[in-house]
Amino acid sequence: MAASTTELDHRHLWHPFTQQRGWCDSEPLAIDSGDGTDLIDSEGRRYIDGVSSLWCNVHGHRHPALDAAIREQLDRVAHSTMLGLTHPGAAELAAQLVELAPPGLNRVFYSESGSTAVEIALKMAFQYWNQGRQRDGGRHQRNAFVCLTDAYHGDTIGSVSVGGIDTFHGAFGPLLFKSHRVDPGDTRRLERLLELHGHEIAAVIVEPLVQGAAGIRVQPPGFLRKVRELTEAHDVFLIADEVATGFGRTGTMFACEQERVSPDFLCLGKGLTGGYLPLAATLATERVYEGFLGEADEGRTFFHGHTFTGNPLGCAAAIASLEVFRSEGTLVRLQPKIRLLSELLAPVAAMDEVAEVRGRGFMVGIDLGEHDPSLTLGHRVTVAARERGVIIRPLGDTVVLMPPLAISKADLARLVEVTADSIRAALASAYGREEPVELRAAA
Ligand code: PLP
Repeated sequence: MAASTTELDHRHLWHPFTQQRGWCDSEPLAIDSGDGTDLIDSEGRRYIDGVSSLWCNVHGHRHPALDAAIREQLDRVAHSTMLGLTHPGAAELAAQLVELAPPGLNRVFYSESGSTAVEIALKMAFQYWNQGRQRDGGRHQRNAFVCLTDAYHGDTIGSVSVGGIDTFHGAFGPLLFKSHRVDPGDTRRLERLLELHGHEIAAVIVEPLVQGAAGIRVQPPGFLRKVRELTEAHDVFLIADEVATGFGRTGTMFACEQERVSPDFLCLGKGLTGGYLPLAATLATERVYEGFLGEADEGRTFFHGHTFTGNPLGCAAAIASLEVFRSEGTLVRLQPKIRLLSELLAPVAAMDEVAEVRGRGFMVGIDLGEHDPSLTLGHRVTVAARERGVIIRPLGDTVVLMPPLAISKADLARLVEVTADSIRAALASAYGREEPVELRAAA
C-alpha cells in the first residue's frame, strides 16, 4: 500500500518555522483544495482561510479570472528568463504597478519572495551610495541601515540584518551586518541618528503603518510621514516594505498612501499575484535607476537576479489580480467589511481572556496578554479553531486574523465568532478548567 501523506511528511519533510520534534508527534492537517475563501482538507472538511494562506490570498482560491489567466499563459510558456530577454507579462505588469504605486516609483525589479524583494532594495541602496559619483568624495561608505525595533522583513541574511525579532533572528547574529534600531514612533531618535550618522546610512527601512510579524503592531498616526520627511531632509533612502501591507490589506492599495508617502523603494510580494504564485517586486525611483547607468566596465551594473525572476505565470496571475481589483471593486467593497470587522471585534476586545485587539483594515492581532510561554496559548487557539472549521496561525500569544479581502460578511462574522470561542476554549484547557464551548467540527 502506498505511504500516506502523513507518513511521507514525517519521513521526509522539514517545515518552515516549525520545531520538527513536536510536528512529527502529531497528525498534520493536509489541504487538498480551495474554494473561494475556504480551504478543504483531504477528508473533505471545510475551513475558513482566516490568515489568507500566510497573509497573501486576496480574491479567494480558484478565482475563475486568475485561474484562466494562468491557464492561458501556460498554453504559451511557463517560464523564460529575464536575463537578456523580456516578455509581455513582465512589461505590462511593471507598467501597471508603476501606475498604481505612490508617485516617483518608475522602475520594477522582479524576484520571487518578500525576503528577496527586501534583499534587492537593501543591495540597490547600498550599491547606489557606494559606487562612483554618489560616493561623497570617497570619504564615506554608506554601510549601515536603520530599521524599526521588532521589525520583520524576511529570512534571507540581508533581510534578517534589518530584522529585530530575537526568536527568529537571534541565532544568526554573527552573520549579520549592523543596523541601527528605532522604536516605532520615536522620531527624535531617528532624527538624531540621521544627524549624526546620515552620511553612513544607506536607507531606513519600515513596514508602513503596521508591523505584521512583530504582533500586528500599529504605528502612531503621522509616524510614517515624519520618517519620510527626515529621510528626505538627510538624503537617506526610505525603503517601504509593503510585502504584508500591500494590495489592500490596510484598506488602501498601499499603506503608504494613507500618509501620502512616496518612498525611494517599495517592496511587494504576497498579495501581488492575488496570493497565487511566488512573485515579488522591488520598485525604485528613476534617481536610483540612473545611479546604475554607465558603461559595462564601470561597475554600475546591478549583479543580482534569480532564475525565476519575473516568471510569466506569476506575472499573468498578478495582471489578472489587478484586473479583479478593478472589475470587482475590491477596495470599495472592502470598506464596509473593515467597519464590520471592527464592530465584531469590539466584544472580543472586552473579553476577560483578551488583553488587547490591534490592527488596521484586514490586519488584526488579538493579544492574549502575558502567560507562561510553555502553555503555548496561541497554538491552542489555532487547534481549537481548526476543530471549529477555521484556519488561523498565531504570532506567539497574539492571535492573527487576516482573511482574504474577498471574504463574505457572513464568513467574517463566523471567523470572529469561532476565534472568540477558540480563545475561551484554549484558555480553559490551558488552565485546566472545564471546556465551556461545544465543539463544532466542520462538516
Ligand atoms: N516583509 C514583510 C513585512 C513580511 O511580513 C514578510 C513575510 O511575512 C516578508 C517581508 C517576507 O516575505 P516572504 O515570506 O515572501 O519571503
